[in-house]
Amino acid sequence: MTTPFASPRSGAHAPRLDKLQQLSRGRRNDHSGASGLPRLRPRHGGRFSVGCVATGGSILASDARQSCLAPWRRSRSRTAQCADRPSCPVAPSAKCPVLRRYRVFTVSASVLAAANFPLRAVKKLGPHKQHYDAVVVGSSPNGLAAAITLRRKFPSVVLLKAKETIGGGCRSAALTLPGFVHGVCSTVHPLAISSAFFRSLELHRSGLSWVDPEIPLAHPFEDGSAVFLHRSLDITADALGRDGRAYKDLLQPFVERHERLLSLLLRPLPLPAAPLLLAKFAAKALFPAQSLGKRTFATQRALALFSGLAAHAMIPLHQPATAAFGIILATLAHAVGWPFVKGGSQNLSDALVRCFLEGGGEIVTDRPVRSLKDMPPATYYFFDVAPKQLLNLRGLDLTEHYRRRLAGFRYGPGVYKIDWALQEPIPWKSDLCRRAGTIHLGNSHAEIATSIHYVNRGEIPPEPYVVLAQPSLFDHSRSPKGRHTAWGYCHVPNGSDADMAAFI
Ligand SMILES: Cc1cc2nc3c(=O)[nH]c(=O)nc-3n(C[C@H](O)[C@H](O)[C@H](O)COP(=O)(O)OP(=O)(O)OC[C@H]3O[C@@H](n4cnc5c(N)ncnc54)[C@H](O)[C@@H]3O)c2cc1C
Repeated sequence: MTTPFASPRSGAHAPRLDKLQQLSRGRRNDHSGASGLPRLRPRHGGRFSVGCVATGGSILASDARQSCLAPWRRSRSRTAQCADRPSCPVAPSAKCPVLRRYRVFTVSASVLAAANFPLRAVKKLGPHKQHYDAVVVGSSPNGLAAAITLRRKFPSVVLLKAKETIGGGCRSAALTLPGFVHGVCSTVHPLAISSAFFRSLELHRSGLSWVDPEIPLAHPFEDGSAVFLHRSLDITADALGRDGRAYKDLLQPFVERHERLLSLLLRPLPLPAAPLLLAKFAAKALFPAQSLGKRTFATQRALALFSGLAAHAMIPLHQPATAAFGIILATLAHAVGWPFVKGGSQNLSDALVRCFLEGGGEIVTDRPVRSLKDMPPATYYFFDVAPKQLLNLRGLDLTEHYRRRLAGFRYGPGVYKIDWALQEPIPWKSDLCRRAGTIHLGNSHAEIATSIHYVNRGEIPPEPYVVLAQPSLFDHSRSPKGRHTAWGYCHVPNGSDADMAAFI
């Protein structure tokens, strides 16, 4: 595949490897260079092979890492059980000698300070009780949402967090160079902005604001042209030419009723409310993305656009219900956009933290929970951790049946991600790509489908499908003046340590 990037500007901006090596950090790939960086091989007078962004050295720094935090199928175990009930998998606290020896935890002042809490409040939030109504383990958006919900019901709720930082996958940090803010994982937030729960929290009062690109997504092709999702359904449909009508017919019913649709879908068991809307959705969404796409669209370009959306499922596109991902992500693009959090995703987590603390909750950081001993006695325990992490927690006295279910959980693919600090915006050939928040680099339907298929078979795809975000084009607070940030990731088989830097 040829690159969708414009030709290099010769000789500009020599790369500064010495600085990169000093400043890059994070978990390294085994195949990277001695510094832990992905292999940066200067070619032809200062260009880099990394990222195939042939810009004559416009990458100031990059940070590569692997993660098995596969976004979709890494569903978590969440248990909230009453310790007083015989069916409860958690030992009754009153009878547990271990829990009586509960040590006093400390609240991390730095996190609270980062959340703009005055020091007085930090001191006041000091520990703590001998017994809590609820303990929540894990401080990412799901854990924080659980903690806020529990706090509305119970007087004393404490959230325990393994690291000093708050937010799990929803964090941002200077992963490359000082002054460059990168999303550690989640960066593009259509689901967060459309969440009725988050809206009910009025997080803008806690400083949260969104940046909403007019073109949420561009999908370039080998010839340098691109298709795109515009915030407007009509503009998007018009640009799709003879597939415009089909595209609009597919999405309009869901865009118009997106709030209702999402409130039905984003819950464990959809209630039989709005049966017509649900039936309409199911009639399309339950198909494999491949067959729905081929049946709906006449052009390869529209099919590729839809396939790139559906591929976020990380499930082979010939499998049932993969169309649902394509439909939902396109619906969200038109209904609410694919926004970035202004200043970085950390600000979303920090706003949730403030909301929880203002409501009277307590947070304890630097407190990895390895066993029941590490938690204070409580009536309810809620774990926002992965199934195998829950299984490894000692002393929970989980039932054999439940342990078997946790042990049998099959993780989805992992990702290989690179963060870049850039001298200048990525010089895409297509102007549309220079105006889009997210870029899908997969070219055709066939290439995207093959890439996902390989990963699910446990193999490295010959031409991986890459998702790329370029938030600093819309949010100047993420990088020094005139500079930019971007990340790109591709999927890899779970547990793979393959070096994908050159591919990306
Ligand atoms: C590279 C990448 C890019 C992504 N991009 C996006 C995106 O653009 N948009 C999007 O919506 N999603 C994205 N995702 C997915 C998103 O990051 C996750 O869906 C989200 O973070 C899941 O949140 P969570 O609450 O389930 O748990 P997590 O974010 O995984 O957090 C779990 C938390 O629990 C803590 N924990 C675990 N075990 C313990 C323990 N024993 N004791 C104490 N604490 C513990 C961990 O430290 C962690 O903080 C991306 C994921 C990846 C990997």
